[in-house]
Amino acid sequence: MPRVVVATNGLVITNYHHDPDFRRLIDQADIVDVDGMPLVLATRLLCKNPVRERVATTDFVRDASAIAAETGVRFFFLGARDDRAAKSAYNLTKAYPGLEVVGTRNGYFTREEEDDICAQIVASGADVLWLGLGSPKQEDFAIRNRHKLAGLGWIRTCGGLFDFYSDFAPRAPAWMQNLGIEWMFRAWQEPRRLGLRYLASNPAAIYHILTKTHD
Ligand code: UDP
Repeated sequence: MPRVVVATNGLVITNYHHDPDFRRLIDQADIVDVDGMPLVLATRLLCKNPVRERVATTDFVRDASAIAAETGVRFFFLGARDDRAAKSAYNLTKAYPGLEVVGTRNGYFTREEEDDICAQIVASGADVLWLGLGSPKQEDFAIRNRHKLAGLGWIRTCGGLFDFYSDFAPRAPAWMQNLGIEWMFRAWQEPRRLGLRYLASNPAAIYHILTKTHD
């Protein structure tokens, strides 16, 4: 059964503390990456062993692709609209020659289709499934279906990754990424959908981060 790696941002932290079903999903993950500067800063302030740095999935996929291209680890991309996963595969394999993305599929399907999708992923011979369905869909899919994905080593949730790598969504400038305020850029780009979401979840996330971060 593949191991599941998920990433935390403010929204994930807020949902973790407010939604017991979501909490159970995250608790079953094997690794939880820190994808948010506030949590990194809080561990510096409150822990003896602080988290060294933020793991931004959009950066991490580049390191992972470089190593996969060298070692022959094969990827499958599942998620996002239309052919964005396929376009991401095209762009990443161009940037990392030798990288094998052995299958792609969009992220819009019913529960009834999940068995077939898992069979397709296994048949592709993939080692790593990159799963970009948004939270909490991706965490739910990963935990519920991991037992159907024999032969894979890892499932890595990746949110809107395929929107970035298919050239649909621009990334924040480097200085904003370094300050940990990439979310502001995204909210500015999509104010109605993301602005409201961040406004609603950030104060709660900050409260939980400050009161519950410990070694
Ligand atoms: N998405 C999907 N299937 C769904 C709902 C969403 O594939 O049923 C995709 C959506 O197209 C987007 C990604 O999930 O590419 C992440 O969405 P969102 O921006 O909400 O998540 P975040 O990046 O904030 O985790």
